[in-house]
Amino acid sequence: MECQLTIALTEQKKEKPASDKLGFGVHFTDHMFVMDYTEGKGWHDPQIVPYSPLTIDPAAMVFHYGQAVFEGLKAYRNKAGEVRLFRPDQNFKRLNRSLARLDMPAVDEAFMIEALKKLVSVEKEWIPTEEGTSLYIRPFVIATEPCFGVRASHTYKLLILLSPVGAYYAAGMKPVKIYVENSYVRAVRGGTGNAKVAGNYAGSLKAQTEAHEKGYEQVLWLDAIETKYIEEVGSMNVFFKVNGEVWTPVLNGSILEGITRDSTIQLLKSWGIPVVEKRIAMEDLFQAYNDGVLEEAFGTGTAAVISPVGEMSWNGHKMVINQSQTGEMTQKLYDTMTGIQYGVLEDKLGWSVKVTE
Ligand SMILES: *Cc1c(COP(=O)(O)O)cnc(C)c1O
Repeated sequence: MECQLTIALTEQKKEKPASDKLGFGVHFTDHMFVMDYTEGKGWHDPQIVPYSPLTIDPAAMVFHYGQAVFEGLKAYRNKAGEVRLFRPDQNFKRLNRSLARLDMPAVDEAFMIEALKKLVSVEKEWIPTEEGTSLYIRPFVIATEPCFGVRASHTYKLLILLSPVGAYYAAGMKPVKIYVENSYVRAVRGGTGNAKVAGNYAGSLKAQTEAHEKGYEQVLWLDAIETKYIEEVGSMNVFFKVNGEVWTPVLNGSILEGITRDSTIQLLKSWGIPVVEKRIAMEDLFQAYNDGVLEEAFGTGTAAVISPVGEMSWNGHKMVINQSQTGEMTQKLYDTMTGIQYGVLEDKLGWSVKVTE
């Protein structure tokens, strides 16, 4: 990127929230990163500026045709004050894959990582240090051209917002109840399921609300073609420990390629636990349950890292997994992953990236 990052610091810093009142994604830091794209000119004017509302033409294409992609990662600060990112290169690689899928222009991944490090170090004081807390990072790109014509926009805006977030498991890990969704689907092969696009989420909200009303915390998504095969749980990838081996749905074009998913597979393999990526029919999982060999189940994603599944409901069958307790392997994965993220465990796989001034 030929252009220099410019930095304008705020003169009015906000009050920081107490670390026990952070919640998820409701507080935003003092600054944000902004960069513009214009066809013919490319990405230009990268800036760190005071956090503020945007002025966007109401005809901007993002509002009408949903050309919007996003990412999610975290910065972790440990007791020694060290700040780390977890595999940020993977997030910007995936951002480029998502952008390509919506016919949007690629960004320079190396430049974005440097810009992000700079933003995080400007906002270092916003990163909470209590166990389990972190700074959630939300890069996103929107189409800004005012035009009702159905085609790709000629102008875009990329922003990065930062939000201090509380411990996901303030009261210890809690297994969730999952509703296996038979009518709504999240994504279909050839669609946008393997890209992190805003529209995937819009289409999933109703199923989520209906599952809540039935008393479940998350939806388990089945494939859109046969509604037979397991895809994801909520906005997480999903894993099952069956008879000592770990199963996870094989990437098929409609499943989002989670970075936590990949890290989980690599960790399990490094421990000598066999991991099988395959098509998993719900029927076969139910059979494993009835045979008493479904030992653990959990979701993976940046927000919760590892989220144990304690109960599933499928076609009126109730499946209680590991007596609704967090499994031993599930807990070990969580402890190891977060240990690496905070820089308190050895990072044998080179995932942790230190942010230094
Ligand atoms: C972001 C996301 C995930 C998890 O990805 P991570 O990189 O592990 O955070 C899984 N499924 C969906 C649908 C997602 O959007």
